[in-house]
Amino acid sequence: MPCLNRGKIQHPLKIDLMPTKTSFRIAAAFILYAWISPVIGSAQQTIRLRLDATEAPRRIYHAELTIPAAPGPLNLFYPKWIPGEHAPTGPITDLAGLKISAGGRSLQWKRDSVEMFSFQIDVPQGATSVDVKLDFLSNSDAAGFSSGASATSELAIVSWNQMVLYPRGKASDEIQVVAELRLPDDWKFGTALPVSQTTGSNIQFKTVSLTTLVDSPVLAGRHFRHIELTPGAMPAHYLDIAADSDEALNAPPDLIEKYKKLVREAQALFGATHYREYHFLLALSDQIAHFGLEHAESSDDQSRENYLTDPLSRMAGASLLPHEFVHSWNGKYRRPEGLATRDYEQPMKGDLLWVYEGLTEYLGWVLTARSGLLTADQSRQFLALDAATLDNRAGREWRSLADTAIAAQLLYDARNDWESSRRGVDFYDEGLLIWLEADIIIRKQTQGRKSLDDFCRVFHGGPSGPPQVKPYTFDSLAEALNGIAPYDWKNFFETRLNATGTDRAPLGGIEAGGYKLSYVERLSEAQSATEQVRQNTSVAFSLGLRLNPDGTITDVLPEKVAAKAGIGPGMKIVAVNDRKYSSDVLREEIRDTRRNTSSIELLVANGKSFSTYKLNYRDGEKYPALERNGQPALLDETLRPLGR
Ligand SMILES: [Zn+2]
Repeated sequence: MPCLNRGKIQHPLKIDLMPTKTSFRIAAAFILYAWISPVIGSAQQTIRLRLDATEAPRRIYHAELTIPAAPGPLNLFYPKWIPGEHAPTGPITDLAGLKISAGGRSLQWKRDSVEMFSFQIDVPQGATSVDVKLDFLSNSDAAGFSSGASATSELAIVSWNQMVLYPRGKASDEIQVVAELRLPDDWKFGTALPVSQTTGSNIQFKTVSLTTLVDSPVLAGRHFRHIELTPGAMPAHYLDIAADSDEALNAPPDLIEKYKKLVREAQALFGATHYREYHFLLALSDQIAHFGLEHAESSDDQSRENYLTDPLSRMAGASLLPHEFVHSWNGKYRRPEGLATRDYEQPMKGDLLWVYEGLTEYLGWVLTARSGLLTADQSRQFLALDAATLDNRAGREWRSLADTAIAAQLLYDARNDWESSRRGVDFYDEGLLIWLEADIIIRKQTQGRKSLDDFCRVFHGGPSGPPQVKPYTFDSLAEALNGIAPYDWKNFFETRLNATGTDRAPLGGIEAGGYKLSYVERLSEAQSATEQVRQNTSVAFSLGLRLNPDGTITDVLPEKVAAKAGIGPGMKIVAVNDRKYSSDVLREEIRDTRRNTSSIELLVANGKSFSTYKLNYRDGEKYPALERNGQPALLDETLRPLGR
């Protein structure tokens, strides 16, 4: 279990002797030794890491490590299973220039022929440490998570797991590391990693466990803004922003107020904090990967350059910071047993990711509304989109939601084509639907006296303090829910998690919450913003197609008319009813099907061949929306702020 090893004092042995003068001296010396030896021991065991990031803009980092070692065989391990990514995504292919020496003498290393992340060396007699030099070749391809592009000419995100080797088999809590970082001149930085001293572009950090180091990335850049979100309060919260331009830092003041409210609302929801201070590390660039990665005391949030300045961009990604912030409680502090691994070698088990990610997705959605980052109406629009997508997942026929969680390590990398048949990482959005239903059930069972908020205070709250990990199992989760509202929670989750052969998503929370999923002719604000920002088009709920701007089909819904006519992913629509393809033309022609009697005709390229497909469709445009169903609007209650 990776929990932090801070402030652990080793008590001296008790010596049960009547102290004569000599024996007193011996005993005193022994006590003194026993007191200081753990200190000496830990100093000897500390890994020194010096990272040169001055060449980050040309996407190469140079690291030097001094690793304490004893003579004999030593295996050094490159972090493989990356916390928060739930998969063996350590970018081992980008580790280069590996040279290991002891006392100036070069040592030969040999990679394990089965475990590609492990390197064996023989430490010579007399050596107390080995010196390691390595380069990290930083990706310029924006796909992927932390191993995707994360450096530009103007900024960089340093993920320490990419820059270290450590003695294989040792728990990350038991390894101490003292790191030093050199940045390009005039760059500023933000991080939750405690700083010991900064001299010009050199930063010396305090000694921390390897767990804390890997959990504390550094965001640095030329265009930088550091905003205190809770001035004067403890713990402190910061929004650290690095961007590709100064203009991109110009967040409107009312947006900053909403981030301040996000912190207040999260504290009101959970009732305690599990960090010494918290940093939102926000990197804004069109050249980097766009995702969020949670840490206990920070989050690595990467988005478009205009994320703060363009209303559409902001709306499409509104839940990014709330989601990652929630993870400090749900994921970092409370963690499923199978994801609370002791090092970066043990495989992670994702079977409870519908809690780790699904509940986070739900609470992130709730906090996005409570903090005002989206209005309640906009929040319902995003919910409608998720619900409709899941309610039209052909893959439900063969694959349970539970399996999407267990197979997360495969599905994060799955392509978009045939996604409806394959299913993707559905435990996020379908987890949201299930947790919404759980919240509504608690509200109903307790006649409005309690809600999932009460569960969060019990399960994620507790005394405030520095980071720690409290693992849980499915049984202990169900027990905690029972403490809030007695119900057959195990059966509630199991039926929803294990269902196959059903074509409907779990929409019980929406329906009991006073709404129903329906389809209207007008595109919602939420879908329009998402399509403009992500540059795609969805006519999934009419013809059953998702497309790129040039008409290339990224996914088809097998139950809908286009797929039934024989169209598949990878094909490209060239013309719609003899008009050159554009998303507007496609939408116009779909709209006109209500008036026209003729079917839609698509001219489609499939590699070198062209075919015409006639779609027998008359129902016009169809976009998801939530409409009131006559029940009390409990769903809206969940979105109401707790504080000011
Ligand atoms: Zn997440």
